[in-house]
Amino acid sequence: MDDKLAIGVDLGGTKLEVALVDAFGAIHKRHSVPTDVKGGDKAVVSQIIELVRNLQQNTSQPIKGVGLGIAGQIDAESGVVHFAPNLQWHEVPLKQALSDALKLPISITNDVRAATLGEWLYGAGRGCNDLICLFVGTGIGSGIISGGKLLTGGSNTAGEVGHMTVDLYGPPCTCGSTGCLEALAGGWAIAARAKEIVKEDAQAGKLILKLVDGHIDNITAKVVAQAYHEGDALARLIIDEVTHALIVGIANLINAFNPVRIILGGGILKSLPELIERIDTGVRRRALGAACASLKIVNAYLTTDAGVVGAAALVLSQA
Ligand SMILES: [Zn+2]
Repeated sequence: MDDKLAIGVDLGGTKLEVALVDAFGAIHKRHSVPTDVKGGDKAVVSQIIELVRNLQQNTSQPIKGVGLGIAGQIDAESGVVHFAPNLQWHEVPLKQALSDALKLPISITNDVRAATLGEWLYGAGRGCNDLICLFVGTGIGSGIISGGKLLTGGSNTAGEVGHMTVDLYGPPCTCGSTGCLEALAGGWAIAARAKEIVKEDAQAGKLILKLVDGHIDNITAKVVAQAYHEGDALARLIIDEVTHALIVGIANLINAFNPVRIILGGGILKSLPELIERIDTGVRRRALGAACASLKIVNAYLTTDAGVVGAAALVLSQA
């Protein structure tokens, strides 16, 4: 690593954030604006260019390049965003558009891999060559570092562990399969499960209903987490199921990849940090003993900075 800086861009469906990051993962300057999703891809590309130029103009140090993390499917070589549901983008040649305008090297990856790189180089995974970051938010995704390399797979989909089957007879998933980890433990699934039970049994769902002023449609995973913290029995039942699914999923990952660190992040686990202990105990009971010998399960370190720091790491980690 040298003393150069990189610009990290975290492109989300609600917020666009850019930051000037150094080779130690420290943020020097940052800006964020609401993403102009309605304006379409051209408007968002203009927003990125403006924010990046602004950072460029305010530093005298050389910029090594721009790294960008985005929730979606990206062609690793061409930098074309095939599909980004939060932005409603299809086949957007993002890398080309940015490199034409900014005249800087541009690297693009999905947001989960960017955050994994950030945790690996500057966060909870520093110094580990074998680790898995598991992000449990609305959906579930992971980044896998094996033998000191971020796995991409033959067609760039490695790490889609949210769609690993953990229940042969489980509920349907958005991917078309059933019993996926995400269909049991993702934020959308937690909300759906709570709505389903509350509709059937309003008495059991009393506290959850109170938290949403009786509007079943407003039940979210966050509401369930809140009810759980207030000691609600139904929320406890739902979160127990979620914990069990995560234990099964993580044990499978440990047996498959033998990581020395599992780093847990994402909105759901952030709102339920106490689950880590139960997950740790459960995983050690289920996974192979030898595979758990040097294993540590920890919470993510970078949390809110993971997006921009990880995106910058894409550039900073290149020779
Ligand atoms: Zn699925």
